[in-house]
Amino acid sequence: MESKIRKQWKMASLDEIKRFVLSSFTEVKKNPCPVDQLRRFTDHTRRNSCGECVICREGLLQLAVVTESITQGLGREQDVEIIKDISADLVLGSGCDYGKEVGRIVSQRIAENAEDLTRHIKRKRCDTLVCNKLLTFYVAPETCTGCSKCVDICPVSAIAGGDRLIHVIDVSLCNRCGACEDVCDDKAIIRAGAVLPKLPEAPIPAGSFQVETEASGLMSRKRRRKSE
Ligand code: SF4
Ligand code: SF4
Repeated sequence: MESKIRKQWKMASLDEIKRFVLSSFTEVKKNPCPVDQLRRFTDHTRRNSCGECVICREGLLQLAVVTESITQGLGREQDVEIIKDISADLVLGSGCDYGKEVGRIVSQRIAENAEDLTRHIKRKRCDTLVCNKLLTFYVAPETCTGCSKCVDICPVSAIAGGDRLIHVIDVSLCNRCGACEDVCDDKAIIRAGAVLPKLPEAPIPAGSFQVETEASGLMSRKRRRKSE
């Protein structure tokens, strides 16, 4: 399989390579987070590199590793420069147009999305609520029916609840895996950024939570920030 891919890229025309790389990027662009787009794009293109020249093989691997760590909340300030340097090296030093095309797109994306990258790295924030490790999961008290499916799936026992009780996630225990979101048929597991609405501190009977509105004047007073 590997030798087939290697032969393919060496023999491919620039147009064919451009089509492949652009279609890979178009696919990941459906994702609203530009940083996660970069992670998916570099991962996909490194898997499809023939691996024959070192800069393409190792450079794409490093890009995939660095962008993955940023989306996991482990980004470091120097990562932007590292990505810029590697993508420039890909353009200059790749043995064929595959690595060069990938390098060009990565360079362009870094220039266009500098702010998003900085927010992910310095503030550990993903404004599009895509990068699980940079957000908070909570149970919408007005929607939860108390079925307990989320309790059964949670790998770290971060959800308190009981039969027909509004469930509550302990954010200090939650590892943000998103498993509860997948099993909740009532769509009661919600993603949030730094600000959370007022929530019950412990399970209470389903349907008993009084939803606050802006008009009630309570919401603005009682909103709280998650600890970062
Ligand atoms: S959050 Fe969803 S899965 Fe969990 S108890 Fe409530 S309705 Fe069920
Ligand atoms: S996101 Fe994962 S760890 Fe957090 S409460 Fe849901 S299932 Fe548990």
